Amino acid sequence: MTALLAVRGLKTHFRARDGAGIVRAVDGVSFTLDAGSTLGIVGESGCGKSTLARSVLRLIEPSSGEITFDGEDVRALSARRLAALRRHMQIVFQDPYASLDPRQSIGAILAEPLEIHRIGDRASRHARVLEVLGLVGLDAEAVGKFPHEFSGGQRQRIGIARAIALSPRLIVADEPVSALDVSIQSQILNLLVSLRERLGLSYLFISHDLAVVEHISDWVLVMYLGRIVESGPVEAIYARPSHPYTQALIAAIPQSGPRRQAAQSVLAGDVPDPEHPPAGCPFHPRCPKAMPRCTSEFPDERAASSPAHRVSCHLY
Ligand code: SF4
Repeated sequence: MTALLAVRGLKTHFRARDGAGIVRAVDGVSFTLDAGSTLGIVGESGCGKSTLARSVLRLIEPSSGEITFDGEDVRALSARRLAALRRHMQIVFQDPYASLDPRQSIGAILAEPLEIHRIGDRASRHARVLEVLGLVGLDAEAVGKFPHEFSGGQRQRIGIARAIALSPRLIVADEPVSALDVSIQSQILNLLVSLRERLGLSYLFISHDLAVVEHISDWVLVMYLGRIVESGPVEAIYARPSHPYTQALIAAIPQSGPRRQAAQSVLAGDVPDPEHPPAGCPFHPRCPKAMPRCTSEFPDERAASSPAHRVSCHLY
């Protein structure tokens, strides 16, 4: 497969609120995303996964590192070239209601990206709006309605329709089902899977919910305090989770089954203040397997169950 997106050593640091310290929201992240595949990024709230996704799109300007999209150096692009490239890199947000302008009709919302990128005329844009509504499973009569006339799941279908209107190659989906009921979640996940296959899309799929990520991803990154602590093929991450943080996240999935019944660990405590991360392994204050060296030595990345399955932990 060809890498559509390659990220190397990406850092996004912010000045702390008091102006004195630095928050390392993303701190040296590397990965590749193959065309037509889904990379799941998981971690608790505050782990840096949403900042990572926005940094890749340069919605937040990274501090350093490389981003290559389809062979183009994204960080070197002028504002004009970046705006043109955004046609191929779209985002679906968590809260479809907040991300849809309540004063605009669905037809206007879906035509807007086409107008911004000066694609087609009024008639062809209308035809494209009807086409994307069909692709997400909504009727043509939605065109004249407004966001408040739809359920949460339907609104997220509209958010997805808006994202695919420009025929992008990459969609960043930031917690796209977290605001929805469980029964609706699976419908939206199945829609994303079928659109990936029909339209040849690639996804960066961000979620705090490991069950959701397992359903849709080919490859998974587990983030903690701005860094990747474990990565690998989805089967390896879920069948042989190696980092104690990943093990605790998987154990917390509210689901029965032999694999999950065996899990004992429950994640204790909160994510530490990213302005003052712990020394050594940043997970050590919460880690049930912490050893003396964990409080002072940062763990390098190593192979876990296979060369492609990587983990940053002194146990390996
Ligand atoms: Fe736990 Fe130590 Fe591994 Fe960190 S390096 S996850 S503290 S065992």
